[in-house]
Amino acid sequence: MRMGNRERRAGEGGCAVCGTTDARMLAFTRLEDGTRVVVCGSHKTAHRRSEKMARSIDELRVMIGERRKTG
Ligand SMILES: [Zn+2]
Repeated sequence: MRMGNRERRAGEGGCAVCGTTDARMLAFTRLEDGTRVVVCGSHKTAHRRSEKMARSIDELRVMIGERRKTG
């Protein structure tokens, strides 16, 4: 089962990758199609340093996200 509602809200309040909501940390990065995505400063840097641009938030998470155990 998918938790679509949680996924959808996750990108709006904080970093799309790690979920931090510290406003001083937050910045934007862009997906390949130009969509602005809220990320924290360190994940903005991580995305810029990666060789390709993510095409979706999910891909962004896979590319630069830390692997966290869920549950
Ligand atoms: Zn982050």
